[in-house]
Order: sequence, then structure tokens, then C-alpha cells
Amino acid sequence: MPELPEVETIRLGLEKKIVGLEITNIELIRPKTFQGDNKLLQGKKVLNIWRRAKMLGIDLTSDLTLLFHLKMTGQLIFEKGKEKITGGHPTKDMLGPMPNKSTVVIFSFDDGSHLYFNDQRQFGWVKVIPTSRIEAEEKKLLGELGPEPLEKDFTWQVLKDNLLKRKKTPIKVALMDQSLIAGIGNIYTSESLFLARVDPRRLVNTITDEEFKKLHRGILDSLRLSIEKGGSTRAHFVNVDGQKGYFLDFANVYGKDGQACRGCPDKVVKITQAGRGTYFCPDCQK
Ligand SMILES: [Zn+2]
Repeated sequence: MPELPEVETIRLGLEKKIVGLEITNIELIRPKTFQGDNKLLQGKKVLNIWRRAKMLGIDLTSDLTLLFHLKMTGQLIFEKGKEKITGGHPTKDMLGPMPNKSTVVIFSFDDGSHLYFNDQRQFGWVKVIPTSRIEAEEKKLLGELGPEPLEKDFTWQVLKDNLLKRKKTPIKVALMDQSLIAGIGNIYTSESLFLARVDPRRLVNTITDEEFKKLHRGILDSLRLSIEKGGSTRAHFVNVDGQKGYFLDFANVYGKDGQACRGCPDKVVKITQAGRGTYFCPDCQK
């Protein structure tokens, strides 16, 4: 499932390509994944692309916004001639010819480029709603969301205050609660706890101020590194130069169980917390 850095990477890639373009056609291959009136989009220009948690919004002229949720297997693929930007759930065929068998909607632009929304399992969706109603829609869809970790006002005190709403919860489980912090999932909780040298099983009320500061730094460092590397998905961001996002190669503990720890001679272990895998080093993380 795409996490914050994956969606942010797509946003950054698309921002460079489609802002200012006009939508000339919308083809609904699987109409149930598209909500709203697609005819409204014809002739509208792209003004802005934004992200909130793991949702992506494309603001258009005439107070319209296209809102995407990629869910488990959604992909966005932009193609202009030989140039290609891919993001979301990684598959081999995302690098092949478009559209393919998982394409659900195709947006065409006035410069001859296309944006393909692919979704194998079709849990993802895109809807067209008035831009002025976005805030209300977000609340409806996502509930009350915690602060965005990459925003300036996300300080270590904000992190501490929010996590302390779940005093008796293991720190790893609290970090994944979207109402406390938005957009951080399994990969980046494991990574940031390793960077902070904090055992994921500890309860929130045992974490010291010093550790909250390190954890805050760890969250920012792991997210930023991942965005720099193009996200965690394999073959995530491929363009004519063959650039790829391989954050998982840079990960310290995520997916590395049984492998040597980067901080000591011990091995990374995997445990299950709240039904999800947690990766950590019992020796480095206290
Ligand atoms: Zn270690």
C-alpha cells in the first residue's frame, strides 16, 4: 500500500508535467471507479496538485478538483511520448505499454500526454468534487487527521502531545494511528524507531523528551530520504533516464528480518503488533 512518500513522489513528478495543461478527454474504462460527472472536466485546466495523507488532489479551473485514493493496488502513470512517470503500487507491467488490463480511467491532455489510473483490485477511486468542498470531503473520508509530518508546525512537542493521547499504547502502534499523525504507515514507523533507537514495544508514556526529539528527527529523516529516492516501491519512478525509486534498499530495518543490523553485530527481527509486521533490532533499540 502506498505511504506518504510514494504519494508525495507522484505529486512532485506530476506537478512538473501537468500544471497548466487542459483536459481534452476522459475515458472511463471501469465507470464504477469514477464518481461524479466526467463531462464537467472537459476543457478544464490543471491549476495545482496537492497531497493530504495518502490522498492526491488535482485542482482544476471552474472550482473543480479531482480527488484520488490509490488504496491497495492503485497506480498513476503519466505518459508523454517516450517519457513516463509511474507511481503507486509497483508492478512490472506499469513499465509496459499503456493502457493495460488494469487501466480504469484515462485522462488526455492538450499536449498529447495521458494520465492513466490503473487499479488491479479496483478498491481505489477518483472523484470530481467542487474545490470549495474539499475540506468537508476530507473530514468525511479520512476522519479527523493528525498533523502532516512534513509541515513546518510539526515539532517534536506536537509529536509528543499527540502520541500522549494514547499513553498505554505501544509506541509503534500509536505512530501508525492516522488521527495522531497523518500518512505514516508500517515502513516509516519501523525506520524512524530504529533511527531513534527506541524499542517499538514500549508504551508511549515511557518515552522521554530526549527520545521524542530523536523520534521526530527520525520521522523527518526517513520520509525525506525516501522522497529523495523516489519512494519505497520497486520501479517506482522511471523516466527516460531510467531513474528509479528504491528506498527499500536504503531502509535500515524494514523488510530486513534475519539480516545483519547496520548498527551492531546483531540481527534484525520481525514481530507482529496490531496485526502488522514490525521490524527492529533488539540490541540497538531499547
Ligand atoms: Zn542493532
